Amino acid sequence: MILVTGGAGFIGSNFVLDWLAGSGEGLVNLDKLTYAGNRENLRSVEKHPGYVFVHGDIGDQGLVEQLLARHQPRAVLNFAAESHVDRSIHSPGGFIETNVVGSFRLLEAVRGYCDSLPAAQREAFRFLHVSTDEVYGSLAPDAPAFTEDHKYEPNSPYSASKAASDHLVRAYCHTYGLPVLTTNCSNNYGPYHFPEKLIPLMIVNALAGKPLPVYGDGQQVRDWLYVGDHCSAIRRVLEAGRVGETYNVGGWNEKPNLEIVRTICALLDELRPKAGGGSHAEQVTFVKDRPGHDRRYAIDARKIERELGWRPAESFETGIRKTVRWYLENPDWVARVQSGAYRQWIAAQYEQA
Ligand code: NAD
Repeated sequence: MILVTGGAGFIGSNFVLDWLAGSGEGLVNLDKLTYAGNRENLRSVEKHPGYVFVHGDIGDQGLVEQLLARHQPRAVLNFAAESHVDRSIHSPGGFIETNVVGSFRLLEAVRGYCDSLPAAQREAFRFLHVSTDEVYGSLAPDAPAFTEDHKYEPNSPYSASKAASDHLVRAYCHTYGLPVLTTNCSNNYGPYHFPEKLIPLMIVNALAGKPLPVYGDGQQVRDWLYVGDHCSAIRRVLEAGRVGETYNVGGWNEKPNLEIVRTICALLDELRPKAGGGSHAEQVTFVKDRPGHDRRYAIDARKIERELGWRPAESFETGIRKTVRWYLENPDWVARVQSGAYRQWIAAQYEQA
């Protein structure tokens, strides 16, 4: 049994679905169901005998302690976070609450649990913390990609709060001997991505005939990884990562935002041509850049490749095509998420059950 936090979010729900499809091992999912948490993503596994959903907060130490005592997981994987940079600029408080204080409370509960385990179980136990490349700050255009030794220079309240949680995780290993693993991953894309983030926002706005807002000159560079590849990296680190180590996870796919938007438009032109002719790219609208916008992130993934033999299965070309197709094939999911109706929809499913 493993305990996952934030498993109703974008990456978490992809991970939960993969895990239950392939591993034969049970999973408890603790999620607060913020605006970003959507149980509809997990509808296909709600009745899986190995799946337990718990509605709750990682900052509720008593609840986490109860769950650990009841389910005796061999690992805890922390996906739960406030994750949207723009939201962190407008209201940073929630980011500090969940990403810093919540992570601290979670670590405290896990430390007590781990100390209570018999030696052999304690030896095998792992706490895996899912983090971001944004903790490293912005790179100059010609600078080498981020290695695990790159200094932390977070620039947004989001990345600063994630950096704080990474440091707490490290400290719990160093001070208390908690067997931790940390992954710092580049930008993910794929199914179930909330349409406030660049790729799903562009797809749903393009289909709705709305403007495609591109910050500044659109030349901010990000490294993109298909979410299924992030999930496989996390599984690999959990299986074979060395305790106390950090693994950078990335797809060697550095691309400027404007190129991403143009690629999506070209795919939509092919897969869902505009009724009146023309290209979706005509909807691109440049908007004022966000404050403190980092210019470039790039991940050097050689450590996880060399030590753990992990490689991404998708190229950017195959992954983005799969993603665009998924949004085209799931208009009801998009509509319910955009209207907030997924909350009522999912409540109704459980009333009926
Ligand atoms: P998301 O915003 O889609 O999902 C976050 C999930 O956490 C939601 O289900 C939400 O309900 C839950 N949650 C929030 N606060 C909680 C709390 N206090 N207690 C319990 N649950 C809570 O985020 P995501 O994009 O899936 O990211 C997951 C993790 O991966 C985050 O830690 C993020 O920093 C990290 N990450 C994300 C990316 C990316 O590109 N999305 C890249 C690298 C790392």
